[in-house]
Amino acid sequence: MNISQASSVAPMMRPSATIPTEVFLRYLLPVIVVHGLGMLVVLPIFFSWTGVIVCLVGVHIFGQAITMGYHRLLAHRSFEVPRWFEWTLTTLALCCLQDTPARWVATHRKHHVHSDEHDDPHSPLVAFLWSHMGWLFLRNHDLTHVSNYSRFARDILEDPFYFWLERHPVAPLVIYFGQTIVYFGLAFGIAALAGTPLTEAALFGTSVVLFGVFARTVLVWHITWSVNSLTHMFGYSNHDTGEQSRNNWFVALVAAGEGWHNNHHHDPSACTVQHKWWEFDLTYWEVRGLQAIGIVGKITPLRTERIRMAARGKARDTSNPARAVEVSQPLLDSSQSPHKSQLS
Ligand SMILES: [Zn+2]
Ligand SMILES: [Zn+2]
Repeated sequence: MNISQASSVAPMMRPSATIPTEVFLRYLLPVIVVHGLGMLVVLPIFFSWTGVIVCLVGVHIFGQAITMGYHRLLAHRSFEVPRWFEWTLTTLALCCLQDTPARWVATHRKHHVHSDEHDDPHSPLVAFLWSHMGWLFLRNHDLTHVSNYSRFARDILEDPFYFWLERHPVAPLVIYFGQTIVYFGLAFGIAALAGTPLTEAALFGTSVVLFGVFARTVLVWHITWSVNSLTHMFGYSNHDTGEQSRNNWFVALVAAGEGWHNNHHHDPSACTVQHKWWEFDLTYWEVRGLQAIGIVGKITPLRTERIRMAARGKARDTSNPARAVEVSQPLLDSSQSPHKSQLS
C-alpha cells in the first residue's frame, strides 16, 4: 500500500480522562519557562558561534538519548546494553526534560496499544496542536493513575534508579537545571583561563547555557513532538497498520530515522525502522556502531528475519516438538496481529 498525504478520517474527541479545566502545571510551566529562556538566543548580546555548535551537537546527542534510549531501548527493548550505558542514556534523556523513564515509556506503550483510538494520549485525530503539545497541558488521569504504570511500565519500575526517580519527583528538575551549572562552569572556566575578562567570560558562559541547554531542549522537544503529530498525519504507508501512522522523510531527517513511523508501528519490536533502501535509519546504524565496539549486545532484527530464525530453530528442534512450539508461538502471535496489541 502506498498512501501519500494526510488521510481523511473522522475527527475524534480528546481522551475522556482529560478535563479542560484541569491544566497540568507540572508540564505547562516548564514548557513556558524553557521556551522563554531558549528564545533569548535571538538577542545579539547572547550570540556566539560556540553556542550554536554546542546546541546543534547537543540536539543529536541528547535527541539520541530520547530516540535510542527512552524509545528503542526502554520502551521496546529492541537491543541490549550494559546497565551503566542504559543509565547514561537515561541521565542524558532526563536532561531533555521529557519526564521520567517510567512515565515516558508508559505513555508511549499506551500509544502503541491505542494508536489513533479514543484512549491514544496524543492522536492528531483530535487536532494537530493537541497531538504536538496540547496533550501535555491537560491532566490525563489515565496517564497519572498507578494502574497505567503497573500495566505499561512494570519492568521499568523494577529498576532501582527509575523507581527512585518516581519517588523523588524533584530529582528530574534538579538534574535538568543542574546541567546549566556544568555548561556555564565549563564555558566560563575555559574562557577565563584563556585570558578573557571575567565579564565577557560570564556573558560567553550565559550564551553557551542559553544555546546549549534551553534552545537545544526546545528543538529536541519539537522534534520528539513531531513524531507524535506529523508522522500520524503526513506521509506514505508501507503497511496497513490499522491506524494513521505514516512514513515522513522530514521527520526521519530531523529525528534520526524516527520519521519512518509507519514501519515502526508495523514492527515495533525491531531495532531498525528501515524497510526500504532509501528509508535510512541513522539511529539503527549508530546502534550497530555501538555493537561493533562492544557496547551493544543482541539486536532484535526485523519480523521477517525473526520468523526465518524461528523457522530455522523449529527445523533444528524437530526432535523435540515441545521446544519447537515454545520458540515459534510468540512470533506467530506478533505476525498475526502486527499492531495495537504489541508492546515490545
Ligand atoms: Zn505512533
Ligand atoms: Zn514506539
